[in-house]
Amino acid sequence: MHLSEHSLRQLDETYLDSLEEKALRALSVKLLDDLKEARDRLNQGPENSSRPPSSRVPWERKSGGGQTDEDVADSGFEPEPAEAPPAKTPPAEAQSARKAGKQPGAPGRGRTQVLHAHEECSHYPEVCAGCGRPLESAGAVAYTGFQAVDPHWGDPAQPGLTRWVVDHRYYEISCTCGHRTRAVAGQGVVDPLLAGIELSEWRLVGQGWRR
Ligand SMILES: [Zn+2]
Repeated sequence: MHLSEHSLRQLDETYLDSLEEKALRALSVKLLDDLKEARDRLNQGPENSSRPPSSRVPWERKSGGGQTDEDVADSGFEPEPAEAPPAKTPPAEAQSARKAGKQPGAPGRGRTQVLHAHEECSHYPEVCAGCGRPLESAGAVAYTGFQAVDPHWGDPAQPGLTRWVVDHRYYEISCTCGHRTRAVAGQGVVDPLLAGIELSEWRLVGQGWRR
């Protein structure tokens, strides 16, 4: 996909009218590519998909929502015998009264520890997703970010293995054409000092742990 959701939602007839022919042609190619890719995904059914059966959503499965033999074989689990009696069944009211997951009114839980970042890594969009002009980072505004933690072999002052925390910041830049382009994880320019870091996904654990 060339265009992010954020960029696509900004495009309208007025914007397309404002573009010069060359920019409009370049944008048309991107739109066409994205449309074909979206159509391919839309037309991809269980029969022509390479996805395993267990990854299908329930309504794509063959036996009315239940597991097929193929699904069971794929998941690697043996089904329990159907005639096995339930050990102890709580009353029906108790079962229906409590829903799975967080109960209403229960205090929320989240990651409470704020990690001290050792460095910051800024991500800027390189070119305007609308007209294709190169973008300057001068007027960039951070719109989101996340922390990644990597192993770090200590220096003489702090020997041993420590965790190295990087604050990743993602920026949005407004172009003179009016389009606002956002750097997306896995794309865009990374600070030259940290050019070795490639982002494949949003994560807390940095890629150093995978080596
Ligand atoms: Zn532009």
